[in-house]
Amino acid sequence: MSDDRTADLAARAAHRHVVVIGGGIGGLVAARECAKVGMQVTVLESEGELGGAIRRADLGGLTVDAGAESYATRGGHVRALLDELGLGDRIVTPNPAGAWLVGAPGVDAAPLPKGGILGIPVNPFADDVRRIIGWGGAWRAYVDRLRPPLTIGQERSLGTLVARRMGPKVRDMLVAPVTAGVYSADPDDVDTEIAAPGLNAALTRAGSLSGGVAQLIAERADRAAKAPGSAVEGVAGGMSALVDALQADLQELGAVVRTGVPVTALSRAGDGWTVSIASVAADKDEEPVEESITADAVFVATPEPGARTLLDGLVPGLGDPGEAPQIEIVSLLLEAPVLDAQPRGTGVLTVPGSRTAKALTHATAKWSWLREAAGTRHVVRVSFGAQGEPAATAGLDDDAAARLALTEAEGMLGVPLPESALIASHRARFTQSQPSSLIGAADRRREVRKALQKVDGLAVVGAWLAGTGLAQVVPDAKAEADRLRRALLWGDDAPLSTP
Ligand SMILES: Cc1cc2nc3c(=O)[nH]c(=O)nc-3n(C[C@H](O)[C@H](O)[C@H](O)COP(=O)(O)OP(=O)(O)OC[C@H]3O[C@@H](n4cnc5c(N)ncnc54)[C@H](O)[C@@H]3O)c2cc1C
Repeated sequence: MSDDRTADLAARAAHRHVVVIGGGIGGLVAARECAKVGMQVTVLESEGELGGAIRRADLGGLTVDAGAESYATRGGHVRALLDELGLGDRIVTPNPAGAWLVGAPGVDAAPLPKGGILGIPVNPFADDVRRIIGWGGAWRAYVDRLRPPLTIGQERSLGTLVARRMGPKVRDMLVAPVTAGVYSADPDDVDTEIAAPGLNAALTRAGSLSGGVAQLIAERADRAAKAPGSAVEGVAGGMSALVDALQADLQELGAVVRTGVPVTALSRAGDGWTVSIASVAADKDEEPVEESITADAVFVATPEPGARTLLDGLVPGLGDPGEAPQIEIVSLLLEAPVLDAQPRGTGVLTVPGSRTAKALTHATAKWSWLREAAGTRHVVRVSFGAQGEPAATAGLDDDAAARLALTEAEGMLGVPLPESALIASHRARFTQSQPSSLIGAADRRREVRKALQKVDGLAVVGAWLAGTGLAQVVPDAKAEADRLRRALLWGDDAPLSTP
């Protein structure tokens, strides 16, 4: 590119003002992509801190993750971002000890069976599988190997597929805890092809579900041998380090980052936009200060309900909202030497319906950086709420929520945890986006994206469109930022990608 052209582009970028509504990971990544090419960028975050579902909590002086605590290594996108931000040397892997399962009838607690995909076992007679589903369940699961393939490879619902081939015990006691823990969803609602890409084809080739799972595991092992590493990683000090680094980088790039400023409305102003905000007044008794900002382009990077409110009347064809699970995480700091032995590995999943809590993470067993920081103390995170099931803590005050979490932790970890063991607690509420693996969710998101991309100067990023998880949100926000940058700098003459 000629020097004149480069100078022209730089001048054009410097005259473009982009406003990003929402300072979660999606908004921050999109903001950075625009600031990198010299655009004027303003990030507006309603809460007092950036990060959204990546949330830091102070637990008796210990800094812990109250929301996201790790990322999937799939695609390498999050690692690449951490490397770019100079956090590569803080990347850590979790303790591989694995988690346990509680709530299976007649079984106090058992390690989650090793191997398998989404809880579907390869060998139903393996000790760790049979211990949970019993001999009856194992023989029923074995029928999968004897049955003619017939309709296999065509069942979209994971739960229906598993129950048909291997019986209800495999679905309810092995698969449901995993889909509830990972996707906050019932296996019947999970799309096989989205949750386990390639499984349908593998089943058809192998002639049975367990055979298909075995094939897929072999393929994955082959890939892992070529690129070894953990499927999940974290950051020493907590995932908030990523948010801090993004904030620092944005400020270095000249972006304006404002917190405590909820965006109340979005409207068209000529070719651009007017973004209305209500700054929270310094004095609580004062009315919020109304303000409006103009922008050439806008990223809406809030969770789905807020995004729909802002986009109402601006974008036709958005369809109906998806149901978003309300999740609560109660983090407990405990002085409980009985936990030194890590009685349930890195945590516990529950058979849905068996307890009020959905899952538990023994965070100091899972992350060595946290264990070192905590000294003799332990950090346990108890999760409540799932798709279609309100959090059992929802109606409780913070103290009662902490007591319920402690009781649940005692039951799930199988050790006595008296109230005297509790040093501090923290409770965080989240609206999780609808799980991307739900049947129909991917089609719905594609339609919404299509409708949004028809509007000039607008992009919507974040988990409700990208899918839940940093490994989904980060590359999607980059791609949407690239699309909007190109449109802003080149209009209809946009080349395939900007520098
Ligand atoms: C409890 C929990 C644990 C998780 N654990 C993991 C994990 O371990 N690994 C993983 O990969 N993923 C995890 N996830 C998922 C992951 O954290 C999310 O998918 C991702 O962080 C979502 O980012 P986002 O930018 O889309 O939305 P958010 O993080 O929700 O950010 C949206 C931001 O918009 C702000 N906002 C809302 N309305 C307005 C408004 N009107 N004006 C201005 N700002 C507004 C919000 O305050 C928020 O900061 C977890 C999620 C939860 C809830």
